[in-house]
Amino acid sequence: MLDLHIGIDDTDSPRMGCTTYVAALLVEKLNDLGARFVDYPNLVRLNPNVPWKTRGNGALCLRIQLKKSLLDKVKELTIDTVEENADLEYEGTDPGIVFFTGMKIPEELKIFAKNTIQGVVKFETALKLIKKFKAEAFGFKKCRGIIGALAAVGETLDGDHTYEIIAYRKPENYGKPRRLDVESVYKMDEATKPYTFNNVDPNTGRILITPRGPDPILYGIRGETPEIVKKAHEMVKALEPVERWVIFRTNHGTDAHLRRVESISQIKPHYPVIAKGTVSKPPRIVPRRHVIFAVKDETGEIDCAAYEPTGNLRKVARKLMVGDLVEVYGGVRPPSERNPLTVNLEKLKILKLAPHVSFSNPICPKCGKRMKSMGEGKGFRCKKCGFRSKELKKVAFVKERDLKEGIYVSDPRSERHLTKPLQRYGMEKSKAEVVLIDGWYGLQPILLEP
Ligand code: ZN
Repeated sequence: MLDLHIGIDDTDSPRMGCTTYVAALLVEKLNDLGARFVDYPNLVRLNPNVPWKTRGNGALCLRIQLKKSLLDKVKELTIDTVEENADLEYEGTDPGIVFFTGMKIPEELKIFAKNTIQGVVKFETALKLIKKFKAEAFGFKKCRGIIGALAAVGETLDGDHTYEIIAYRKPENYGKPRRLDVESVYKMDEATKPYTFNNVDPNTGRILITPRGPDPILYGIRGETPEIVKKAHEMVKALEPVERWVIFRTNHGTDAHLRRVESISQIKPHYPVIAKGTVSKPPRIVPRRHVIFAVKDETGEIDCAAYEPTGNLRKVARKLMVGDLVEVYGGVRPPSERNPLTVNLEKLKILKLAPHVSFSNPICPKCGKRMKSMGEGKGFRCKKCGFRSKELKKVAFVKERDLKEGIYVSDPRSERHLTKPLQRYGMEKSKAEVVLIDGWYGLQPILLEP
């Protein structure tokens, strides 16, 4: 028996397709051929901050065992399936496939994967590694997808991970409005939370499991275990036929893209960060209701932006004051003519609130009424008893802050695939014990006419 890892990336376009669907088709075909899956298909979201990303920037890896005699057949089948289902005519869709044989994934490939999730890698680096580890790569057109395909092979999801069950539509329904029983989604959410996440936007009640757009996905449900996403899937009533479903193991909701930097001077464009600093410029609202503030440490200062769709996060950012000690989480936008290097906030942790010191006029020592100012440096006068004083000063007092220390996350509707939602805090996994459950993938049964 042979261990084979098949990485695939960049088959879709904004107008059609989805690389998870190519993987779902291959799951069925490879099983039929006699391959044995040793893991759920891995769905690995790569750095959402690179300028050339694919739509969801998700790459796939199938990890199987097979008879050596089947190897050529499996490769051929994979290449054909990608070719048939990729949007090859679309400029910017540059599919890549990587085959790697061997039980253990080399450490260097794991590091390459981390760098692809957290930063920017070079195409040449991918090619060098493919050569070094005798992997095999196939690319279409500009072959950019080879980077993501290799990264998917290298990301073994040994640390924190989650699951997503994806149900696919029948091709004749692509592009039409998705039909689901909304009530069944609310019920599913109630019954499975907090072990599933981002089903419904709690603020608006909007269903979040259905994507928008022409892709083949009817819905995707994310959760902590394969069992819970399967259960959730069984509770959702689709009002259109489901062609097939597959459970994926993913890095969704794990913050895998964020890397902590030691100092603000280390923040680079396109490398998502967690950075600590003190608020140095108060929040201001810019057109389109975005909130901008700055943080600094002894090495530098950086702008941070909370965009309007981040909802609650934007509201919290507005209440920051100079002197607050915070941690900012998010992607980094390169400087432009109009804006400096900026962290696009996904999360904000308030470590220590600065005291809000305010001043008021003194109390009249004669009658106890609050006095009036007679103007800058001219002292105070009591309106009630007429007492005047040049010696009395304004009194400082600490105002209560309308903000609490703690972590704040953007609203689910604007949450990125990779952003860890609040409810996952404390549920992080430190290892992977993969057991494929019954019915981890399936096809809509074909009903035969009697
Ligand atoms: Zn008085």
